[in-house]
Amino acid sequence: MSQTPELVVKDLRVAVEGKEILKGLNLEVKKGEFHALMGPNGSGKSTFANALMGHPRYQVTSGEILFKGRSILELEADERSRAGLFMAFQYPVAIPGVTVANFLRSALNARLAPPDANGTGAMPQKKGIPPKEFRAMLREKMALLRMDESFATRYLNDGFSGGEKKRAEILQMAILKPEIAIMDETDSGLDIDALRIVSDGVNALAGPELGVLVITHYQRILNYIKPHFVHVMVDGRISVSGGPELALELETRGYDWVRDVREAEAL
Ligand code: ADP
Ligand code: MG
Repeated sequence: MSQTPELVVKDLRVAVEGKEILKGLNLEVKKGEFHALMGPNGSGKSTFANALMGHPRYQVTSGEILFKGRSILELEADERSRAGLFMAFQYPVAIPGVTVANFLRSALNARLAPPDANGTGAMPQKKGIPPKEFRAMLREKMALLRMDESFATRYLNDGFSGGEKKRAEILQMAILKPEIAIMDETDSGLDIDALRIVSDGVNALAGPELGVLVITHYQRILNYIKPHFVHVMVDGRISVSGGPELALELETRGYDWVRDVREAEAL
């Protein structure tokens, strides 16, 4: 077991279009740990997720993001993904004509490709995982996640419900085997069905080799997920961290209580 957390975020400040959204965020996630990041709408949760994945619109103005001991600030999103950082996107795009299975096979081959294959960012010449081996792997993961096999033959995100999009993301996570995975909530807000799918998936994939950060503003998450750690973000910073009891406290007292703590600290 490694002692250094795979993901270390230090005093991170992020601006979007010149406006500072993250104002000094600190967080550490290790393999084998399950964290929940909570907070009211607009507190900067998705900004954080986008900054972690290197979205070009989110400008890191100071602070550091270390993954496996190395700064990833200069890495592109695909390089971060290949390094073993996975992010389920909040607004997954539909790709008509590309099946879930084809998409996942391409994604896996990209993940397995050596980082400096040819320097152009294009796929290397080698064929990647053989189709037969991939199909066996896909079947195994779908069984583990109790998904119907027909799901793999559908076009990616084409007419998918919120829940089906989440299923596709969980399946992608199962196939890519990241060391740290970040799951941002669906845009539909209180999508309990989606949260349950994420929770079941994370529970099925949980183990010493996977660290997970689930991001949600839903206060009653403990009915659905069982995180080891809970963090509450208010106005671009983590205001309080604790165990599952913190989520219970939010359920009864709401987010205003955390805001009050933050304001008292500022005095
Ligand atoms: P949360 O996910 O916690 O609801 P967000 O990170 O989506 O919060 O938003 C935090 C703040 O950053 C909001 O005030 C939002 O308007 C602003 N913001 C986030 N992304 C963008 C963007 N791409 N362009 C402009 N403003 C943004
Ligand atoms: Mg959000």
